[in-house]
Amino acid sequence: GTRPLTLLGLGAMGAALGHAWLAAGYPLTVWNRTPGRAEPLAAQGAQVAGTAAEAVAANRLVVVCLLNDDTLGETLDGVDLAGKDLVNLTTSTPGQARVRAEWARERGARFLDGGIMAVPPMIGAPGSGASVFYSGSRALFDAHAEALAVPAGTAYVGEDPGFAALHDVALLSAMYGMFAGVAHAFALIRKEEIPPKDFAPLLSGWLTAMTSSVHQAAAQLESGDYTKNVVSNLAMQVAGSETLLGTAEEQGVSAELLTPYLALMERRLAEGHGDEDTTGLIDLLVRRTGR
Ligand code: NDP
Repeated sequence: GTRPLTLLGLGAMGAALGHAWLAAGYPLTVWNRTPGRAEPLAAQGAQVAGTAAEAVAANRLVVVCLLNDDTLGETLDGVDLAGKDLVNLTTSTPGQARVRAEWARERGARFLDGGIMAVPPMIGAPGSGASVFYSGSRALFDAHAEALAVPAGTAYVGEDPGFAALHDVALLSAMYGMFAGVAHAFALIRKEEIPPKDFAPLLSGWLTAMTSSVHQAAAQLESGDYTKNVVSNLAMQVAGSETLLGTAEEQGVSAELLTPYLALMERRLAEGHGDEDTTGLIDLLVRRTGR
C-alpha cells in the first residue's frame, strides 16, 4: 500500500525523491529550511509543514536528505522522534552513521541509514540504474520496503548502521581510481591526431573487460592465496611499468596519477611477492591506514 511519509530536505536530491513518491501516489509531507523550495512539490499535492517538528509528527516514516550529518543534528535537535522510523539519506561517514543510529535509538526511533548511488535525474526513473544501499534496522527496511523501492533500487547490506555509508564510499573511491586512469589515458593521446571520440570506445571497452579483475581479487582475498590463477604476475607488471613511465615521459604527460600505484607494486615486489598479482597491494593499504 501507499502509506504516507515525511521528507525533510528539498535540495536537488530531496526534491527528486519527493517527486518520485508523489508520482507513485504516496501521500507526502515535506519540510525545507527555505520554504520556497517546497512549492513545486506542493503543486503536485505534497503537504507542506511549517517546522521540522510538525513534519516529523505527521507520519511514522520520516526520510531525511539534508546537506550533512551536522545539518541533520541541528534540524532534528529537540524534535520528538519516539516511535518514528527514521531513514537517513544524508551522506555521512560510517562513523557518523553509527553515532546517529545510537542517537536515534536513545530517542526511541528505529534507524536506517542509506547511501544513494545516483544523481538526482536518475531518481524515480526505472532502468536508470539508481540504487541505494541501506543498513541498520532490518525491521524498518522490511516494514517500508515498498516505499523505499520507489525512488531507486534497494540493497540491504547489514545491521551495522555504518555499512551503507561504507559501501557507498568504497564504490565512489573505486570510481575515482577509474577516473584517474581515464584522465591519464586521454592525456597520453592529447597531443596526437587521435580523435578522442574514436579513442573513447576503445578505452571504455578495455575498462569493461578489466572489471573481471574485481572478482579475481575477491576470490583471492577469500582464499588468502594471492598466487592462485595469477594471469600477470607482479614481477612482470613492475618490469612493464618502465614502459608506462617511459611513454608518459615521451608524450610530455605527468605520471602523478600513476606513480602511487606503481610504487605500491614495487614495494610488494620488494617484499618478495613477485609471483602474486595485485591483490597483495590491498594488504599494504590496510597496514598503512587501518584503525
Ligand atoms: P543541496 O545542496 O541541493 O541541498 C541541501 C539541503 O540541505 C537543502 O534542503 C538545504 O536547505 C538543506 N540545508 C543545508 N544546510 C542546512 C541547515 N543548516 N539547516 C537545515 N537545512 C539545511 O544538496 P543535495 O540535495 O544534492 O544533497 C542532499 C544529500 O544527498 C547530501 O548529503 C548529498 O551528499 C546526498 N547526495 C546527493 C547527490 C547528488 O548528486 N546531488 C548524490 C548522492 C547523495 P535550503 O534549501 O534551505 O538551503
